[in-house]
Amino acid sequence: MPAPRLSQSAEAARAAALQAEFNEKKWVWVPDDKEGYLAGWVVKEEEDMGEVVIASGGEIRRLPLYALSKMNPPKFDRVDDIADLTFLNEASVVHNLRLRYGSGAIYTYSGLFLVAINPYQHLPLYSDAIVHQYRGKRRDENPPHIFAIAERAWINMGEERENQSILITGESGAGKTESTKKVIQYLAAIATDAHPPQSHSQSPSLTHSNSFNSIMPTAGLPRTSSFKKHGKGMSSSGSGFTAKDRLGLLERQILQANPILEAFGNAQTQRNNNSSRFGKFIRISFSPDGSIAGANIDWYLLEKSRVVVRSEAERSFHVFYQLMEGGGSLKDTLLLDGGVEDYEYLNKSRREVDGIDDKEEWALLKNAFETVGFTVAEQLDLFRIVAAVLHIGNITITETRSNDAVMPDPSQAERVCHLLGITVAEFTRAVLRPRVLAGREWVTQARTQQQALDELSALCKTLYEKSFGMLVDRINRALDRPSSKSTFIGVLDIAGFEIFDVNGYEQLLINYTNEKLQQFFNYHMFTLEQEEYAREGIEWDYVNFGLDLQPTIDLIETSGNAIGILSLLDEECIMPKATDLTFTNKLHALWASEPLPGDEPHPGSSKYEPARFEQGFIVNHYAGRVEYRTDGWLEKNKDPLNDNLTRVLSASSERYVASLFAEYSEAPSLVGALTMGKKRVTKKGAFRTVGQRHKEQLAGLMAQLQATQPHFVRCIVPNTHKKPGRVDVPLVLDQLRCNGVLEGIRIARLGYPNRLPFVEFRQRYEVLTPGVIPRGYMDGRKACLRMVDALELDKANFRIGTSKIFFKAGVLAELEERRDTL
Ligand code: ATP
Ligand code: MG
Repeated sequence: MPAPRLSQSAEAARAAALQAEFNEKKWVWVPDDKEGYLAGWVVKEEEDMGEVVIASGGEIRRLPLYALSKMNPPKFDRVDDIADLTFLNEASVVHNLRLRYGSGAIYTYSGLFLVAINPYQHLPLYSDAIVHQYRGKRRDENPPHIFAIAERAWINMGEERENQSILITGESGAGKTESTKKVIQYLAAIATDAHPPQSHSQSPSLTHSNSFNSIMPTAGLPRTSSFKKHGKGMSSSGSGFTAKDRLGLLERQILQANPILEAFGNAQTQRNNNSSRFGKFIRISFSPDGSIAGANIDWYLLEKSRVVVRSEAERSFHVFYQLMEGGGSLKDTLLLDGGVEDYEYLNKSRREVDGIDDKEEWALLKNAFETVGFTVAEQLDLFRIVAAVLHIGNITITETRSNDAVMPDPSQAERVCHLLGITVAEFTRAVLRPRVLAGREWVTQARTQQQALDELSALCKTLYEKSFGMLVDRINRALDRPSSKSTFIGVLDIAGFEIFDVNGYEQLLINYTNEKLQQFFNYHMFTLEQEEYAREGIEWDYVNFGLDLQPTIDLIETSGNAIGILSLLDEECIMPKATDLTFTNKLHALWASEPLPGDEPHPGSSKYEPARFEQGFIVNHYAGRVEYRTDGWLEKNKDPLNDNLTRVLSASSERYVASLFAEYSEAPSLVGALTMGKKRVTKKGAFRTVGQRHKEQLAGLMAQLQATQPHFVRCIVPNTHKKPGRVDVPLVLDQLRCNGVLEGIRIARLGYPNRLPFVEFRQRYEVLTPGVIPRGYMDGRKACLRMVDALELDKANFRIGTSKIFFKAGVLAELEERRDTL
């Protein structure tokens, strides 16, 4: 919570005292396994070693000097922008974040990023009054906030008529989805306010707030992030800001799309009680007058396997429990005569979640459906699939002595078939004895028990995923009003890098996505810095760090002459007798072998290693080394359903079910589709491997993002207990490394991360150079030149542009120190 504000003079006195105490010792951060970093001061230095007294407890430790990080003077405590720290080391970064978090300031800028640490508690940061506080304000006029990012996007969109995107990433539970909701809340509120996007008097594209001014207000003390008191006129719902009930129908529909998506796409997991099991990109389009014109949702990588299996401590998608608890007479229609405990796909794992009332959620879901405009029949179709999945899960399959699968009790299949609008005879035949092509003849092939069970679970996954796709399409039909004149703000809510003990195909796809997103960020930062330096006429050769990620991306996605992981997997999927092992061995042969003499090694090979165990490999991702296990990859990539089954479903008497499988109505085999894919015109969405589909989708997303002005939000989970107040420093550091915040800082340091307009530089530091600048007017640049001369600054440590002076990290601290010791 914000600290009570001291009077200015008391504050100044306190600051002076802190500074004096600080100046007495040589303060450093000491790495510590448990705490991450401990504060201490150096008492002895011998060659490369230092002796440090740990501030808490007085213990003395001997360490190599390179392991110590300089501490920033106290006036830098709680700076709004980490990039303004003069000593930019990991310890100082986390220290600042932790201090801020402790006082309720969960948001902090880090150059181009907004860092958001999950508060795990309800904070009064999102009221209409706060919306109002951020409306029409520049980034440095308010404490850091997700609203400031939304505001910036909105303003840029209006001023430059350019589409915007807000990229939100982070681990599971870090707060991506909550942040996404806040952005949409803000946009809906200000659009309803019907203020057309209007000009603000501010410098163009000031996305990189390196202005030292932002941490050095008049008193010379950093501004702490206490939110302004909302005094007169702000607490009443008078004009100027928006209450939820004043939103128009479209705005309400956009907001209400979310509970629907969450019911079908979110689930309780060990890391997050409301974990999104899919990624999404929501675009909100605005008319030139600033009102909302429509919205559109793209989705990625739904974790459909969850409907069938999950760890014991987790649940399936929320909608299953909501329907079971709240469904009432609808359950009769869907032939669901039991409770959660009666369904195999639900009763093997957790059934209830603290703090989630499924019945209440059901009511909210129904309400949301109504607002968005789903008819009762449309809702029934969606629940029909949910119920069918549960019924399929209860089908028993046994085996004859000759290992042929049989369905001993047809009554369960009857329920399924009733709901799916197909005949029991066709269904059971497709599952137990499908017809397959043997040479040039169709023959009936008996399935084993395991094969039939696998077919059923594959069916459930496909049904659920296809229905989810339809659901999103339906929402888009309700919200999307395409118009050539509109511009959009897109919000991307997608999982960050995943590095688990065991990583599978899902992790490869999500990490591949993040590799691309990180490249996009690096490239963007590079371009912006480059532009700023060019504008200021500073000579400079800045390395394009976006290029660093290309070898890893190539390793995964290359196709054509070189063969990347995904295309090799596709090839193996159509090879007769291929297995996960043959796939893995081919990968090793391609990527881990020494290049032949005279051959250039492919750059991606530096990112590839065989795994330590038999079946897998390691990719050196941007975020770290990730060991993948390739078990089941062929099947996961093929995503197989037998033709018999899909054809039966595509001929369903239920229109909805038939539409889900329309693409299969006369399905050629997967082999045919893959080998002939280039020549034949396949129907939209049909016959592509999971990898191909994702690669295409991702390319589409990247193309969209590249055509926008991006804004970046990095969400951080503070601890693994889902509890407020605790910051596990090593955990946070790990995330800062993975999500590029630390590297962003490292790259910034190669340039001149701190910058001040000439006027500010002169105002603040002229005291250090008395008499150097003559009385009366002097050109800002000239004055600056004289001052740096008099200050005897090393030429390598600064650059003078046309309106600003740029510094290497650490220089300003030195000037500050000189100022303090005057
Ligand atoms: P996943 O990848 O699993 O979907 P996520 O990053 O989307 O995770 P969220 O669902 O947004 O995580 O957040 C997890 C939980 O943390 C929320 O349900 C909420 O309880 C809490 N939380 C996150 N952000 C905030 C916030 N700004 N204020 C209050 N609580 C929050
Ligand atoms: Mg989420």
